[in-house]
Amino acid sequence: QAKQMGKGTYRCFDPAMMEVATQRAAMERALKEAVACKRFEVHYQPLVDCRSRAVLGCEALIRWQHPDGHWIAPLDFIPLAEELGLINQVGEQVLQLACSALAQWHREGHAHLGMSVNLSAVQLRNPLLPEQIADILHMNGLPGTALTLEITESVAMQDPQTSIHRLEQIRALGVRLAMDDFGTGYSSLAYLQRLPLNILKLDRSFVQEMETNPNDAAICTASIGLAHHLGLIVVAEGVETEAQHAFLDSLGCDVCQGYLFSRPLPGDALRQWLGGLPGGSTA
Ligand code: C2E
Ligand code: MG
Ligand code: MG
Ligand code: MG
Repeated sequence: QAKQMGKGTYRCFDPAMMEVATQRAAMERALKEAVACKRFEVHYQPLVDCRSRAVLGCEALIRWQHPDGHWIAPLDFIPLAEELGLINQVGEQVLQLACSALAQWHREGHAHLGMSVNLSAVQLRNPLLPEQIADILHMNGLPGTALTLEITESVAMQDPQTSIHRLEQIRALGVRLAMDDFGTGYSSLAYLQRLPLNILKLDRSFVQEMETNPNDAAICTASIGLAHHLGLIVVAEGVETEAQHAFLDSLGCDVCQGYLFSRPLPGDALRQWLGGLPGGSTA
């Protein structure tokens, strides 16, 4: 279009393009401010034992309310935080919030609970990451075994040597490692077994249609079998129905997570959900 308008016409004079550029600049400013002022929140979604439904722990999921009032989904700002070089700080804030919440729940009598926190590929390139994790665990009086870090297949595909080394340093703290969204990436099985993993999280896209789509059922069955052969615990994500839960249980799945049990909840609401504890100010 710019071409048609002839030489000397610049695309950036297009008002629509200007709008996009302005919006992005505003988003960058808001995100930088959120990091500097620690404005992120974390919600917690329970993970339950597939057979007994006993609560084993929670996954920490970042939440950000834009200054204009609306909530922005993690997948809509995590990539920007990575691009802007802010993800190490964001990740550290999430880890700190999640660990201090877990330490509180432990003090309140739920000492068996664990916490899972998502890690971005960029964080894994930070040589100071293992030390940062150790410091946060120590500050909150938590053993490494209380924490699980979730990585995705792509995380470990970029620069495998460095990734494996970093993951081994983290494992040495007693922290467990989970492969998140399993089945959606491009990693080979040969490569997967080189990673020091403890847990495999079956992606919700396979769980969603496992009862109606035989291919998805086959992927679930095979993934659970593979994981168990490799000595890994299997977590199914996105479990929304009793039928999905029953099917997963029949396949020998170990742990379930999904709206059937609970949506991600603010810390105080989660404490109430756990039962018998005083809720927050909004209770
Ligand atoms: P994830 O790690 O796979 O997290 C699970 C996502 O599935 C969450 O979305 C959760 O709210 C959603 N979910 C859970 N159960 C159900 C269900 O039964 N049905 C459906 N439809 N969805 C369900 P959320 O919170 O929007 O997070 C999206 C992704 O953003 C996460 O996927 C994770 O990759 C990333 N993320 C979230 N928090 C962080 C963080 O602190 N750091 C980093 N690096 N990434 C994060
Ligand atoms: Mg996750
Ligand atoms: Mg996941
Ligand atoms: Mg997922």
